[in-house]
Amino acid sequence: MSIQEMLDLLELNPVHRRFISSRLQGSYCATLDEVGLRSIGTFATHEGPGRYFRVDGGNQALARSLAASLPEVICNTPVTGIKQVTEGVIVSTENETFLADKLVLSAPISVINKIRFTPALPEDVLHAIAVTKLGSAAKLSAVLTEEPPLLAKQDSDAPYWCWTGQVRDGLTKKAITAFCGSEQARKHLKTSDKDDESWFEAIQASCPELQFSGNHVKKDWGDDPWVMGSYTVMNNEAYTAVNVFSKPFHHIYFAGEHAVAELSGTMNGALETGVIAAEQILAAEND
Ligand SMILES: Cc1cc2nc3c(=O)[nH]c(=O)nc-3n(C[C@H](O)[C@H](O)[C@H](O)COP(=O)(O)OP(=O)(O)OC[C@H]3O[C@@H](n4cnc5c(N)ncnc54)[C@H](O)[C@@H]3O)c2cc1C
Repeated sequence: MSIQEMLDLLELNPVHRRFISSRLQGSYCATLDEVGLRSIGTFATHEGPGRYFRVDGGNQALARSLAASLPEVICNTPVTGIKQVTEGVIVSTENETFLADKLVLSAPISVINKIRFTPALPEDVLHAIAVTKLGSAAKLSAVLTEEPPLLAKQDSDAPYWCWTGQVRDGLTKKAITAFCGSEQARKHLKTSDKDDESWFEAIQASCPELQFSGNHVKKDWGDDPWVMGSYTVMNNEAYTAVNVFSKPFHHIYFAGEHAVAELSGTMNGALETGVIAAEQILAAEND
C-alpha cells in the first residue's frame, strides 16, 4: 500500500494527521499516495535517538574531496552519446569524444533519456526509467543578524519546514534554512519564481523571534535541466523495477540514488551504489 493508505487506516486527531502528513509529504517530495509504504524506512538512517550530523563545509565538500583524488574532472560538459564497442565505450560530448574501458552511468534517472545510447538500453532498463519519477523540492536560506536559538518549525499549509543549526564548535550559524517538498508546495510557495517573496515572508511571519537581514537565496531543483526534480519517489512500480540497475549492461555500470530502493533519495544511497559499481568493475577485471 501507499503511505497515504496506511495513514488513512490510523485513528489520528485532525491536527496530528495534518502535521504528520505535511512532514512526510515534504521529505518524500510528493503527495503520499505516490509513495510506497515499503520505502518508509529510507530516511531512518539510525535507530533510536541520536545526533543529526551535517557535512562540515556543506555537501559540496564531499564531491570536492572525491574530485581532488582524481586526475581530471570535467565539469559543465554534458554527455550526449554513449556508444558501446568491443574494446569499451565511446562517450561523446558536444565537442569531444572519449574512449573508456568501462562507464559508470550516474546521471539522474530523469535525464538519462537525454543521452543517445548505441545500442539502445535494454527494455527492462527503459521500463525502470519510465516508471521512476523524481519529486519536487526547493530550499530557501536566509541570513540573520543575531545568533538564533536552535529551532525547527513545520508548516502544514504548504509542506515546508525551517530550522536553525549548529556549525563546527557548537556555534549556531546566523542563518535559517527552509525545505519544501512536493509539487503542491512548489506551486503554493512559488519556489520557481525568483522574484516572488511569498516563501521568505511566510518564514519571517512564522519566526518573529529571529532578526532577518533581508538577504536570502532560493533554489528550486525542478529548474535544473540536468536533474529536473529532487530525488526519486519510490512508488511500488519503481520499487519493483529498480533491480535492473544492479547488473551492468555490457560496459555500462549503473549508479546514483535511484539505483537502490532502500536508500533512494539519500546521499548514502548514491555513495553506496558508487561502491557497488566499483566492486563490480574490479570483479569483472579480475575474471
Ligand atoms: C533539496 C534536496 C535536499 C536533500 N537533502 C538530503 C539530505 O538531507 N540527506 C541526504 O542523504 N540526501 C539529501 N538529498 C538527496 C541527495 O542530494 C541525492 O540523493 C544525491 O545527491 C544523489 O546523488 P547522485 O550522484 O545520484 O545524483 P546527483 O547528485 O544529482 O548527480 C548527478 C549529476 O549528473 C549530472 N548530469 C546530468 N546529466 C548529465 C549528462 N548528460 N552528462 C554528464 N553529467 C550529467 C548532473 O548535473 C549531476 O551533477 C537532497 C536532495 C535535494 C534535491
